[in-house]
Amino acid sequence: MHISQKLAQARLEGKPTFSFEFFPPKTAQGVQNLYDRMDRMHGFGPQFIDITWGAGGRHSKLTCEMVKVAQSVYGLETCMHLTCTDMEQSKLDDALREAYQAGCTNILALRGDPPREKDKWEATAGGFRYAKDLVLYIKERYGNHFDIGVAGYSEGSDDNDDVDELIDHLKEKVDAGATFIVTQMFYDTDIFLEWVRKVRAKGIDIPIIPGIMPIHTHAAFLRRAQWTKCKIPKLWTEALEPVKNDDVEVRRVGKDLVADMCRRLIDAGITHLHFYTMNLAQATRMVLEELELLPDQKSPLEKPLPWRPSLALNRREENVRPIFWRNRNRSYVARTQDWDEFPNGRWGDSRSPAFGELDSYGIGLKGTNEQNIKLWGTPTSVQDLSDVFVRYMEGKLDSLPWSEQPITNEAGSIQHDLVDLNRRGFLTINSQPAVNGAKSSDPIFGWGPRNGYVYQKAYLEVLVSPDYITEIVNRIECDEEFTYYAVNKDGDLKTNAPNEGPNAVTWGVFPGKEIVQPTIVETVSFLAWKDEFYRLGQQWANCHATASPARYAIQGVVDTWYLLNIVHNDFHATRGIFPIFDGLSVKDMEKPLYSLNSELSTTNDHETTNGTDVNGADVSKGANGISSTFPEYSTKESANIINTAKTSTVDAINGVKNLAVAN
Ligand SMILES: Cc1cc2nc3c(=O)[nH]c(=O)nc-3n(C[C@H](O)[C@H](O)[C@H](O)COP(=O)(O)OP(=O)(O)OC[C@H]3O[C@@H](n4cnc5c(N)ncnc54)[C@H](O)[C@@H]3O)c2cc1C
Repeated sequence: MHISQKLAQARLEGKPTFSFEFFPPKTAQGVQNLYDRMDRMHGFGPQFIDITWGAGGRHSKLTCEMVKVAQSVYGLETCMHLTCTDMEQSKLDDALREAYQAGCTNILALRGDPPREKDKWEATAGGFRYAKDLVLYIKERYGNHFDIGVAGYSEGSDDNDDVDELIDHLKEKVDAGATFIVTQMFYDTDIFLEWVRKVRAKGIDIPIIPGIMPIHTHAAFLRRAQWTKCKIPKLWTEALEPVKNDDVEVRRVGKDLVADMCRRLIDAGITHLHFYTMNLAQATRMVLEELELLPDQKSPLEKPLPWRPSLALNRREENVRPIFWRNRNRSYVARTQDWDEFPNGRWGDSRSPAFGELDSYGIGLKGTNEQNIKLWGTPTSVQDLSDVFVRYMEGKLDSLPWSEQPITNEAGSIQHDLVDLNRRGFLTINSQPAVNGAKSSDPIFGWGPRNGYVYQKAYLEVLVSPDYITEIVNRIECDEEFTYYAVNKDGDLKTNAPNEGPNAVTWGVFPGKEIVQPTIVETVSFLAWKDEFYRLGQQWANCHATASPARYAIQGVVDTWYLLNIVHNDFHATRGIFPIFDGLSVKDMEKPLYSLNSELSTTNDHETTNGTDVNGADVSKGANGISSTFPEYSTKESANIINTAKTSTVDAINGVKNLAVAN
């Protein structure tokens, strides 16, 4: 969406808005860290972000790459900076094409800083001299596809101190087709507002977005003021000088000064603030907090869907995804990026048949071996694995091999059950509680347009030891409310799903709209997820030295344990899935997996010979006719457990009803 359109919309709603600028970091690790930060800062609710343009090969390539990732993976409306420095026309064409293909629709067109090794800016043969030329060129090549912004300077630019002349040149850029102005940073609001008055007097009436530089440290504050030649008001010097050696105090005082400046701008009718984050979150967050602009219980971040929508080219209409990748957004986007069409309205024929290969960038395990060992330790038993999972479920660990983010507060209502299940050696991978008509504005479960209601079926995905899978599946099959899929690394699948089609597990009902069903469970995508799941497990094992106990332990689990997903189709039943596991705990959890696995290899229930397992059960077909190695078990005892389980869901139902009423 165009920035000028977003600004117009926000203006109609009468609320101040903001955006963030980031620059491409120098190292690969820096880039990954920045992506994680951008992801978290998405939660602050920016209208858009900017990625600056660095002249030269690697820098400019990285800008294009970051724009693509920000748009497609993090769903951040992104404005790409583009400069004329060292850019002959063909390079500009490449950059614009990449931005277009990334789904980017906003460009900040600049002349650019001189390259590092030069003091003075020089035009490149076959390129452009002024930003206005670039504006004209983009318009000529792309019509109205890109919304084009240009730079403004309230106190002079690096090579021109004449503010009035700069306003004349600004007018030329606007006449060439620019639709918004982003300004250089400043600290003196009076000077800035006087400049705005002059700009308006010149007949420039497009939105002016002030560049706000939060104060990180005293030294950086002075350096940036000197660098941009902007004036520091006396009041600011008096407030900061006495605390200049105390970084925490500098940030606190700086936050008050910058917030006061923002308030004056807002009072003067300038309602969008553009923060130069310097790739850091804290100082910007402090100012936004002070201005009460961060989302909170009263005005939560608006989520169009339960998952973060991608803004990649041709993908903006996508509104259905399988639940399996809920904690691995980046990999889902990467594995589906070549689809011609994305499911919209329903998961059906528009979906391309194939998920992308597992070796593309962004699909494998994140982090180096050392980092991962530091995070998840060196597990050698089920107990150790269980401890890692429990720490994650308790919010004490930020990620797992299958979850790139910390556990969300959506899991709050079932957190106790999740912790308990993991303590008993059933390792939970993904889950959601049932929700029976929470308001779409609900800070935890809400999504979609205002005045709607959202629903969820309880879902649990869990890694189960081969010793327990049959018992658990038998218990599940005793109750028709459950559907499940269980699969092992080799792809032996068992399911009681009535067909291969989708089972909607979240849906929303909104005024004047058809029902939206954005999250589903179904066979083909579960099998694609299964490949990724086991491969991630393998990569986790490979973080450890060959023949080490940890490598052996993780490998053993990956090779033999079952990935089981369960849907409770009665969406009134919040806790409905957990009672299936009542009375079950993995035995000998503390025993090193090395010794357990060597025993297992001789007593494994699931080893098959000529279509029968060692217990003599027929393993050729599962409930849906898909081949399976699951033995048949007596279901009497299982049925009793499920019946008890059913009665215990009533309290939970009432709990959710109360939640919906409270909201
Ligand atoms: C918000 C913002 C973001 C920025 N992002 C980046 C970035 O990502 N990468 C980067 O390298 N730099 C960036 N810069 C810095 C910017 O590129 C430099 O300040 C550059 O020197 C000027 O760029 P401009 O687009 O304002 O150029 P222009 O508007 O083209 O002006 C450049 C110079 O030419 C003069 N001029 C313009 N038109 C005429 C004319 N018709 N006749 C004679 N003289 C003229 C101007 O007065 C000025 O002195 C950014 C600056 C701002 C304010």
